[in-house]
Amino acid sequence: MKLIDGKAISSEIKDELKYRVAQLKKEGKEVCLAVIQVGQDPASSVYVGNKKKACEYIGINSLAYELKEDTTEVELLQLIDKLNKDNKVNGILVQLPLPSHINEDKVIKAISPSKDVDGFHPMSVGALSIGKQGFVSCTPAGVIELLKRSNIDIEGKECVVLGRSNIVGKPMSMLLLRENGTVTICHSRTSDLKEVTKRADILVVAIGKPKFITKEYVKEGATVIDVGIHRNENNKLCGDVDFDDVKDVVSAITPVPGGVGPMTIAMLMKNCVESIERDIDFC
Ligand code: NAP
Repeated sequence: MKLIDGKAISSEIKDELKYRVAQLKKEGKEVCLAVIQVGQDPASSVYVGNKKKACEYIGINSLAYELKEDTTEVELLQLIDKLNKDNKVNGILVQLPLPSHINEDKVIKAISPSKDVDGFHPMSVGALSIGKQGFVSCTPAGVIELLKRSNIDIEGKECVVLGRSNIVGKPMSMLLLRENGTVTICHSRTSDLKEVTKRADILVVAIGKPKFITKEYVKEGATVIDVGIHRNENNKLCGDVDFDDVKDVVSAITPVPGGVGPMTIAMLMKNCVESIERDIDFC
């Protein structure tokens, strides 16, 4: 069984980006990410802090906007508009979730698609589904990098994605399709889930249910990618897959922690760097 080491692969990507950013600086180009947080949700503060640290390591300038919980939707939209027009800013990220008085969809749509490094704008999602260039949601993009850098072929393989959320399951399935996998998407209404997941050469699990996937769901020799992240009763992290139960059946698997998790920030950084290296044209 091969353990897919997301920590090592994400470090490798960050080092490559550090080099690319240094080269860009020599050409007089600075990469800049604006990160907006509304309120002080502790989990969001940790994520925002980790993004700032990654920017520092790679050499990306980061602008932090820590807005009060009672910031109005209009004030937030005005800030996004200002950042959209600022030529020095390459990427804009609004940390989700937002307080309930702010409409998340409106905020996501307000970010210019050319600075949408999270890949959540409907234009970015549309570009992915019709095979055009555009920003791709970071977690599923990270899964593809994990597979490629672990030399696991996707082309021609039976790929099953468990979960159909807008940020993981749907873009994941589009990316596997783009890599010429034969893709099936499962969700809470799928009948006979085990029968479908057992067909998978590559099984990507993103259902948000701790240790849901046991060996009864997995084909012998499959690659299993666990996107889920949970804290158990002992405050230890675990995924959507019961790692100990499936580890002797699979040929490769991501651990939690240290699998998909570290890839999300690495891919966000990659999107920031690519935003300056290429013009995104959605037309
Ligand atoms: P989500 O929005 O809650 O979506 C869960 C999906 O799983 C839904 O499509 C749902 O189906 C399906 N599902 C739920 N229970 C099911 C069941 N019993 N059988 C079959 N399908 C079922 O979750 P998400 O945002 O995609 O996140 C999934 C997990 O990934 C969470 O643990 C989250 O914390 C983690 N995550 C990790 C990262 C990272 O960086 N590592 C990033 C994002 C998310 P329906 O559509 O039919 O309801």
